[in-house]
Amino acid sequence: MKRNEFLKLCGLLGISFPLQSVISSCSSSNTNSNNNPPESVIIIGAGPAGMAAGYLLAQQGINFQIIEANSSYGGRIKHNTAFSNFPISMGGEWIHVASSILPEIVNDASVTITTETQGYNNSDLVQEWDGNTITETTLGNIGGSQDLKFVGSSWLGFFETYVLPSIQNNIIYNTPITGIDYSSNDVIVTSSNGQTFTAEKVIVAVPVKILQNAVINFTPELPNNKQQAINNVEVWGGFKAFFKFTSKFYGAYLGLPDSETDQGQRIYYDAAYAQNTSDNILGLFSVGQQAEQYQNLSGNAQRDYILNELDTIFGNNIASNGYLDHIVQNWNAEPYAQAAYIRDQENWQLLRTLGQSVNNKLYFAGDAYTNGEDWSSVHTAVRSAKRAVEEMVS
Ligand SMILES: Cc1cc2nc3c(=O)[nH]c(=O)nc-3n(C[C@H](O)[C@H](O)[C@H](O)COP(=O)(O)OP(=O)(O)OC[C@H]3O[C@@H](n4cnc5c(N)ncnc54)[C@H](O)[C@@H]3O)c2cc1C
Repeated sequence: MKRNEFLKLCGLLGISFPLQSVISSCSSSNTNSNNNPPESVIIIGAGPAGMAAGYLLAQQGINFQIIEANSSYGGRIKHNTAFSNFPISMGGEWIHVASSILPEIVNDASVTITTETQGYNNSDLVQEWDGNTITETTLGNIGGSQDLKFVGSSWLGFFETYVLPSIQNNIIYNTPITGIDYSSNDVIVTSSNGQTFTAEKVIVAVPVKILQNAVINFTPELPNNKQQAINNVEVWGGFKAFFKFTSKFYGAYLGLPDSETDQGQRIYYDAAYAQNTSDNILGLFSVGQQAEQYQNLSGNAQRDYILNELDTIFGNNIASNGYLDHIVQNWNAEPYAQAAYIRDQENWQLLRTLGQSVNNKLYFAGDAYTNGEDWSSVHTAVRSAKRAVEEMVS
């Protein structure tokens, strides 16, 4: 769930939350244009940012390779297609901006986009658990929601249809990058098994937690202010779960007393909202400290903890009696993510520093490497990719 939407929802539910620094007149980061489109580009990471960057380079006829650590593309927008008859988003799920982001990503007016999206209704049921009792209201009564759901698709499904066909032959999988040497004219990128790749410019599109944990060694070291920003941003962990039940005993959203704090967020929600399905699937979204209670458990203990929490809230053992199946996703345990995303209240100037290019050779794209106006979403990842490519070819 997007920062603004989440804060609005929680705030209107009476849950206190801090406001992120107000940002005014955030122009994009410094542009170190050398006025020469590069002859070759390596993109590290095939998440939304890496895929969007490759797609934009392909549109401009620039040679590129995407090097991905995992055996597949997608990163934190991966989905599960086995749990129900619609894709379940294990990471990025909602569209947090207008649906015009989809043609913005495709960047080609001749392409007709058929992906369906749906917003929420003001009459949708919202429940709030205060630790003792559950109360009900409507989404309209708490200010509504601007978020959109994909209908029968997902962020990953959208990328598979409109972006992947142009880039899939340029992706090299199962190749974790551990070194980037930008000390000479060309940039040399080294993988964990010693394989090297050379290009004129490199776009680093791996999660910031990967840089924070020094998975990639830079030669020379990154500029001090950049390394400081990498070290100092707080990246929240993340956990999602999806529970299938025999009946739908919940509304569109269920707020909890700690749905929004300085340390994290969590909320239950109707994951099958807007889908053409008979499955009743309740989603649990949690990041930061609120995710830890679930991440600290596994297997049946984790399942029973969540069912017990729901039984306590809804009463009559309704969750455990109606339980059919569940799936979980712990983002801290993913070796090439190691966390969810940067906390909502982070200092925007640190974010802006993260987004800056280095020596006209290293460019950064991803939900963390923005101009500081917005971060931690798919749309910010793709917009940062656009910014990086524009800067590189200008
Ligand atoms: C629980 C959760 C809920 C979310 N909900 C939403 C939401 O509702 N809406 C929304 O817009 N956003 C949401 N997000 C955020 C969204 O998923 C991310 O902003 C988006 O995926 C970032 O894209 P990216 O390309 O920057 O990074 P990623 O998606 O993480 O992609 C990075 C890629 O780099 C690869 N990689 C990592 N290390 C290496 C290496 N050393 N060498 C080579 N490749 C490497 C990874 O395998 C991965 O494929 C959510 C995220 C989480 C975790």
